[in-house]
Amino acid sequence: MAKTKIVNVGLLVSGDVGQPLLTADTLLLDGKVIAAVGRDADVADSAVDRVIDARGCALTPGLIDSHCHPVLGDFTPRQSQLGFLESEVHGGVTTGISAGEVHLPGRPKDPAGVKALAILAAKSFGAFRPGGMKVIGGAVILEPGLTEADFAEMAAGGVRTVGEIGLGGIKLPADARPMVGWAKQHGMTVLMHMGGTSIPGSSTVTAEQVLAAGADVACHTNGGPTAVSPEEVSTIVRNSDIYVEIVHCGNPKMAVHAAREAVDAGALARVIIGNDAPSGTGVVPLGIQRVIAHLVSLADVDPAVAIAWATGNTARCHKLPQGRIAVGAPADLVFCDAPMGSVGDDLLAAYRAGDTPGVSIILVDGEIVVKKSRNTPPAKRDAVVK
Ligand SMILES: [Zn+2]
Repeated sequence: MAKTKIVNVGLLVSGDVGQPLLTADTLLLDGKVIAAVGRDADVADSAVDRVIDARGCALTPGLIDSHCHPVLGDFTPRQSQLGFLESEVHGGVTTGISAGEVHLPGRPKDPAGVKALAILAAKSFGAFRPGGMKVIGGAVILEPGLTEADFAEMAAGGVRTVGEIGLGGIKLPADARPMVGWAKQHGMTVLMHMGGTSIPGSSTVTAEQVLAAGADVACHTNGGPTAVSPEEVSTIVRNSDIYVEIVHCGNPKMAVHAAREAVDAGALARVIIGNDAPSGTGVVPLGIQRVIAHLVSLADVDPAVAIAWATGNTARCHKLPQGRIAVGAPADLVFCDAPMGSVGDDLLAAYRAGDTPGVSIILVDGEIVVKKSRNTPPAKRDAVVK
């Protein structure tokens, strides 16, 4: 197991919304996990195989896209693009959560087919990391006829998520409720579409319906892409304890409203950030970075908190070990900084200015998957392997 030492970190963002910035400049990685976080003098460095010099740039956990719609492999029939997940890795995203493989041409709607697709996608992405990205695939789309035994079989087959309720044949809370109960019993996280009809075939879902169905996540509270009213967003934020998702391919005005409400209500631990791509809006490799910059610059969200919304919060929501810089966590890490030419001097100031960062090295499970992002501007300070 290779040991890596990371030195000269200028700014350490933890991904933990309770303590989003850490006062440390050195990390020790032991194989796939973070073994130590501290000050240079305190972190023993005998017998490391590799040193990464951050040269004063920031280090954050790898971002988690809480909402993507893959099918199989690194291809999306929705926008006929190859390599869209690998391209998102270059935006600092090291984990993607499927919200349902709804774009499969001829997607089956009978219980046997629904179950087969979810298990196939879960297993396929379990063994395939596009560009290094961990994809939590196989989000079952609820269709009439699914039984408790089906949820047990899917959970045993690696299915961890119920894809957006509302995209399949089960739309009403009364119909969804028993299936949601079975899914939760078997450890799954339950997502529900909220807002206007996204594409022909899906439906309009209100805040009241999301809460009545018992979902864990109100997907794209800012619209996917058409938003509900500000009052309904406030209902989800203030009168529930479920996760509040804000996405790139939604309504930007309502993204600001949802974020401001979450800050005002002290609901910082419940906001998560997704792309909701591929969609009709397109495929957006820098989508998560753009939402962070949007919320920081226009809704006055603390930038380190916004990064936690795109890392640790999403990991907690989906019961994943990554998304934090902490001893024992997987070493999924992004070296980044203010982009060249930004009026902001460091990562946090660049986000406050509305800029997206420059990304240099990206690690997944302690392995370098990107040495310099091809999709972001160059960083003012970039990390190098010594
Ligand atoms: Zn949706």
